[in-house]
Amino acid sequence: MWHTMKPRNLLLVALWVALPALALAGDKLLLKAARLLDGRGGAPLAPAMVLLDGDRIADVGANLKVPDGARVIDLGGATLLPGLIDLHTHLCGKYGVHWEDELIRTTPAFSALWGAHNARVTLGAGFTTVRDMGTAWPYVDVELRNAINAGAIPGPRMFVAGAYVSSTGGAGDASQFSEYVQVPSVDNLADSPEEVVKQVRKNFKHGADFIKLLATGAVLSKGQSPGAQQFSDEEIQAAVTEANRWGRQVAVHAHGIGGIKTSIRAGVRTIDHGSYLDDEAIAMLKASNRKTFYVPTLYTSTVIARQGREAGIPESEIQRSKMISGIKDLGFNRAVASGLPIGFATDSAVIPHGENAMEFLERARLGEKPMDAILAATSLNAEIMGWSDRIGTVEPGKFADLIAVAGDPLQDIAELTRVRWVMKGGVVVKDELARQ
Ligand SMILES: [Zn+2]
Repeated sequence: MWHTMKPRNLLLVALWVALPALALAGDKLLLKAARLLDGRGGAPLAPAMVLLDGDRIADVGANLKVPDGARVIDLGGATLLPGLIDLHTHLCGKYGVHWEDELIRTTPAFSALWGAHNARVTLGAGFTTVRDMGTAWPYVDVELRNAINAGAIPGPRMFVAGAYVSSTGGAGDASQFSEYVQVPSVDNLADSPEEVVKQVRKNFKHGADFIKLLATGAVLSKGQSPGAQQFSDEEIQAAVTEANRWGRQVAVHAHGIGGIKTSIRAGVRTIDHGSYLDDEAIAMLKASNRKTFYVPTLYTSTVIARQGREAGIPESEIQRSKMISGIKDLGFNRAVASGLPIGFATDSAVIPHGENAMEFLERARLGEKPMDAILAATSLNAEIMGWSDRIGTVEPGKFADLIAVAGDPLQDIAELTRVRWVMKGGVVVKDELARQ
């Protein structure tokens, strides 16, 4: 973690400041490691060499020739993998601050500054790409993405939701304000198909990459039943039709089974959380033919149960989380048993930023094999985002987003909670790997 950096890493801090924002084409770099899991699911390549040209991967093999003038980085006994992808983060949320309190007590600058901090922490944990599901103060995520892309601050590649769309009184409608308090800056409500279309268009106008719709109640929204559907079938369909017209996707926050099935029928890209997933929903997801994916967030329940009280989560929401936790586990179990592809996500900010890889342990506990978990957080997540052309595997032409762990994650998936080395776009952004 960045905040517990040891003195020997002071040099790294200095390097970080001095590093160029971009690796230039023509700069050749050869990476060597004991093995490579390339994100495609085959046997590990051992030993492994990855040749980079600027910010891209140029070649992969067991015994590549070192080109003239190329730098070499030897990672010794480490395992190389593609940079990890988290499909559900809230980088602009500060762990321990309820989003509704953020609206009462802070300004968008709070979200931006903590967002910058959390982006760096998340990148340091090996997550080189995130699909960010929105901020209490709308569109701060757009600015964070742009600042990272401009090289102003370190952080993962971001795919952002802008202003999540909620029904009035729904999971994304801050409920603590009285009828007499107007909060015009948070204009994210829609109560008809027409209003949903308007919110979709407004989001894209202001820089969102995709649409997040709150289709059901939430765990962390006051006075909500997570199971209840909060948009009509027509409203959800309107969001998908309009987003698709822009060539973009809709991700729905959905716990209850009614909202889940309606959303699958409407053709959304992802069912996030998906807590009450049942066999029929799994069959519908399979029949969608990789159009719609289930994206659970399991570690949240563990964190809320263990430390929710000290993080200031209201007792009612802690109880609700406990109630849902067993149901979520059953749904995940069913999905694994059925062979359903399962996207990888955490809902970070609900969990501490940087602990994203703890989700791997929850999934392993519920029966997922290490290779399936690794594929979920790499090539599958890239496919879900529509970014298979640039990230998710270690193949020529893709961005040089790579991580290294000291051991073999196929033997112990917990290795991914100890990412020692991170490269994004050909630039080393973390190096805590002990070399022999
Ligand atoms: Zn969320």
